[in-house]
Amino acid sequence: DEQMILQFQITLYGDDERLVMARDITRLHRLEQMRRDFVANVSHELRTPLTVLSGYLETYGDMADQLPGRLGRGFEQMRSQTTRMQNLVNDLLLLSRLEIDQGGQDDTPIELTSLLDNIRRDAEALSNGHHRIDVEIDEPRRLVGSEKEIHSALSNLAFNAVRYAGDQSHIVLRWTHHTDGACLEVEDDGEGIDPHHIPRLTERFYRVDKGRSTATGGTGLGLAIVKHVLLRHDARLEISSHPGEGTVFRCVFPDTRLTDAEHDSCHQRQ
Ligand code: ADP
Repeated sequence: DEQMILQFQITLYGDDERLVMARDITRLHRLEQMRRDFVANVSHELRTPLTVLSGYLETYGDMADQLPGRLGRGFEQMRSQTTRMQNLVNDLLLLSRLEIDQGGQDDTPIELTSLLDNIRRDAEALSNGHHRIDVEIDEPRRLVGSEKEIHSALSNLAFNAVRYAGDQSHIVLRWTHHTDGACLEVEDDGEGIDPHHIPRLTERFYRVDKGRSTATGGTGLGLAIVKHVLLRHDARLEISSHPGEGTVFRCVFPDTRLTDAEHDSCHQRQ
């Protein structure tokens, strides 16, 4: 009674010969679904105990100053590790939702000027004066999509630039146009990434330097979230980096995702 899922592979030989292979991937598909549900359920179940823990740690927060040396440091560790766990659980939940939902329910023309400005302000707070962060907008059309999701993708890219580009680097958040489509970009002139890491960067928990990434407060899920948000917006992520010179993360959107700036309503260009 169950639906069967088949995957076809067609190979062409010369002009008139074709080899068609069909693979039954029903079981694989079901296992993948079980994995997604499991991660979503575990993350959801972990949320309540973590909220209780952080609530108490908050309540007793003032006590930390009065505790003697080692105890005080232990208390601080409990607080920071609980926050880390909360960030991890929130990112896992967000990623599960992005994988499971169809998307498109809250698509609207996005006001990118204020969105990029807000992200710049948050990134400046994280940077604490160690970076110069600018916004550049030279694409007159507006992007149609989920503002919440685009916000979380771009914040991840901007916060990564602050965390990994190195002090004193210049970061630019940009809405611009290239020959292949309209782009939201985050560019930095920092340390860059060795080319062999680039194809694996959007994998969950993949890090270039594991020790350093944990210290910066990232969850290891940032770029996986970016990739899924872009998939839901028919967009793709291009990463170009030169060690010692900097990195550009470019989100490329097709024309179907753009609308004329003067149209405030949901009129979408076909
Ligand atoms: P996290 O930042 O939590 O480790 P991400 O998925 O956001 O996880 O990023 C994966 C890795 O990509 C980071 O650990 C870091 O090594 C590398 N990275 C991301 N952005 C930059 C950047 N702007 N410059 C240098 N390295 C970066």
